[in-house]
Amino acid sequence: MSTSRRSFLRSAAGLALGGLSWRSRAENLLPRSERRVVVVGGGFGGAIAAKYLRLHDPSVDVVLIDRKTTYIACPFTNRVIAGLRDLAENTVGYDELAARHQITVLPTEVTAVDTAAKQVVTPGGAINYTRLVLSPGIDFRYDEIDGADPARTPEIMPHAWQAGEQTLLLRSQLAAMRSGGTVVMSIPLAPFRCPPGPYERVSLMAWYLKRTNPKSKIIVLDANPDIAAKARLFRAAWQQMYKGMVDYRPAQKVTRVILERRAVDTGAETIRGDVVNLIPPQKAAPLAFQAGVVGDDGKWCPVSQITFESRVPGIHVIGDSCIAGAMPKSAFSANSQGKVVALNMLAVMNGREPDAPAHVNVCYSYVNDREAMSVAGLYRVLGDNTVFVPQAGGLPTSYTELEGIQAASWFNNMLREMSS
Ligand SMILES: Cc1cc2nc3c(=O)[nH]c(=O)nc-3n(C[C@H](O)[C@H](O)[C@H](O)COP(=O)(O)OP(=O)(O)OC[C@H]3O[C@@H](n4cnc5c(N)ncnc54)[C@H](O)[C@@H]3O)c2cc1C
Repeated sequence: MSTSRRSFLRSAAGLALGGLSWRSRAENLLPRSERRVVVVGGGFGGAIAAKYLRLHDPSVDVVLIDRKTTYIACPFTNRVIAGLRDLAENTVGYDELAARHQITVLPTEVTAVDTAAKQVVTPGGAINYTRLVLSPGIDFRYDEIDGADPARTPEIMPHAWQAGEQTLLLRSQLAAMRSGGTVVMSIPLAPFRCPPGPYERVSLMAWYLKRTNPKSKIIVLDANPDIAAKARLFRAAWQQMYKGMVDYRPAQKVTRVILERRAVDTGAETIRGDVVNLIPPQKAAPLAFQAGVVGDDGKWCPVSQITFESRVPGIHVIGDSCIAGAMPKSAFSANSQGKVVALNMLAVMNGREPDAPAHVNVCYSYVNDREAMSVAGLYRVLGDNTVFVPQAGGLPTSYTELEGIQAASWFNNMLREMSS
């Protein structure tokens, strides 16, 4: 049983949790008003939605639920894998957010959404909602890879695509790899969480291995026809800094794994790795499936591009789980969607017409310990879709130390904004 689950159950038995007895917690759970929004998922989307709901309308009661007591963020975990950062620096709690905005934060698993009763179900009891925001992140489509399973495969071939133990496992495998060993990384077909993320990981692993294991190499099996983001700049970085070390192979989809041999198969060839970083294809988190908000593609959640309301009335989906047109699945996007869902859900609840939003997204990628590059995009609603606004964003001409500094500053601001 996880620590967060245990502490919730302990609280239910009457013991203290976060300085509050279960009785006062339960009283907190009584709506302060007629209207309560429950937000499930305290990541980049959910924590921001909860905060901005309270900032825009303090008369609305907000309950934020996450299965964990602290949030470990994914951005900058590629630096953890390269030994440049401690995972603790990626970790934030909810105490300040809860106290400053009078948000009731519950560390528990939501096991189901009862759409008829308008309740979320947890091991400690059911909680009523007027409206529900889901920002539960992603899950993996292991069923599309022969020989793979969600329990055993990540222990042998870590994905490190959800931050925490998986990040540390890949880090330790890389550090322990034999001299001259081979890392095999597989990248799924888009869309997936953080389009430039795999290529940043290639760069930072290469930076690390060049210093500690110079005869090693990285074979990148990319299911996509080309590098999915910042292609020109990643190619230049690998050519200039990691020539002979990075072997990038486009249009190579891993269809089978042989766990006991630590090997992957593309149909054309079987490749053995000393370390295998298998990033599987992705889909919305399990709770989205249970709540019935996943679309006909069986993967992601279609939503109104204005209110983020899903196919189930009263349930709004944001972040990586939702389909937001051309917006990438990123922390920056989830943050923007959190703000929009707060404003436009309140507009609907308060009888006002919601406004069509515009969004910005900027994604930074490091190519070595100091230098980074960004890609920026502006997005607007056109009909039923969110589209990229041409010539409103773009790429820099090269990676620079200045962008490395800006990336660190952006990330600190993101963590501060969601936790205070
Ligand atoms: C290696 C890597 C690097 C990245 N770098 C960047 C970057 O530089 N810039 C950028 O913008 N993005 C980056 N991203 C992407 C970013 O991390 C995600 O897009 C972002 O986390 C999505 O936010 P979210 O709120 O949708 O989901 P998450 O952040 O995953 O949050 C979901 C939360 O929901 C909780 N939850 C789920 N189900 C339940 C349940 N049933 N009950 C209770 N709680 C539940 C989980 O515990 C979790 O805390 C990166 C991702 C990776 C993997």
